[in-house]
Amino acid sequence: MVNYKDLGLVNTREMFKRAVAGGYAIPAFNFNTMEQMQAIVMAAVETKSPVIMQVSKGARNYANGTILRYMAEGAVAYAKELGCEHPEIVLHLDHGDSFELCKECIDNGFSSVMIDGSSLPYEENIALAKKVVDYAHQFDVTVEAELGVLAGVEDEVAAAESHYTKPEEVIDFSTRTGCDSLAISIGTSHGAHKFTPEQCTLVNGVLVPPPLAFDILHEIEKKLPGFPIVLHGSSSVPMEEVNTINQYGGHLEAAIGIPEEQLREASKSAVCKINIDSDSRLAMTAAIRKHLAEHPGDFDPRQYLKPARENMKKMYIHKIVNVLGSDGKLAQC
Ligand SMILES: [Zn+2]
Repeated sequence: MVNYKDLGLVNTREMFKRAVAGGYAIPAFNFNTMEQMQAIVMAAVETKSPVIMQVSKGARNYANGTILRYMAEGAVAYAKELGCEHPEIVLHLDHGDSFELCKECIDNGFSSVMIDGSSLPYEENIALAKKVVDYAHQFDVTVEAELGVLAGVEDEVAAAESHYTKPEEVIDFSTRTGCDSLAISIGTSHGAHKFTPEQCTLVNGVLVPPPLAFDILHEIEKKLPGFPIVLHGSSSVPMEEVNTINQYGGHLEAAIGIPEEQLREASKSAVCKINIDSDSRLAMTAAIRKHLAEHPGDFDPRQYLKPARENMKKMYIHKIVNVLGSDGKLAQC
């Protein structure tokens, strides 16, 4: 048994409390590689922001869960080396799909887990989430559960259709499960192709997706005042990265994300964790394609991974400062 506290990690409880009260959101960035981890830590340290580093099923398949845990431990040490004496870094399991997986992560140093029973019937979702909460809370690990279904594809999480969270269920669900935060479905979506062009309206030559269901969010907030709400699938899919990818030999068609103004708006509410994964993939791929196109003789991975890391770091800082507002929000610097 490895307790996250011995690794210098923190759970989400205190940072969420401050984020809800302060009207901002904590960034939850997925990571699979060392360069992503370094870029996340550099961005968090430079902006003095708490940060959630999250691990999906795809990340565990790609990089190995044990290695990712050691990388998170390394992230804490790296943040300190970069001059941040009291970093607030959460190691979070993204979309845990079973009690066994959540337990394994808790036993191996994760400070927060998501149990995603959103595809199950309501009562089964409650029973599964409660089982995870009962186990996690013994070790002061925080638990995110989900009500409602997001559309889109993210690693191995896929759903064809979204089902908005029903506000009338949230009190019963959060009370009976004891979960620490709740992921809801209000129109965000997994992946880089969140909407089809047919779902969007054309404004000045740009495809604008349908707005998030802020009415549902506000209803949920009214029912659960101050309760931490989580938005998944919240990449904005920046057009400049998509254009760079396509300009240098890529072929991304109709990649559409969530407009950043809407995420900024959501951050000011009880939404206190915003998940961003695709934007990091796009930033990395755009920089690598550009570098290799401009330097066809390069073959040392460090030559193209360095600009990739820089580009991701720039994106993370932009999100922290201009979209989520979590800069300068460490309890102690
Ligand atoms: Zn998700």
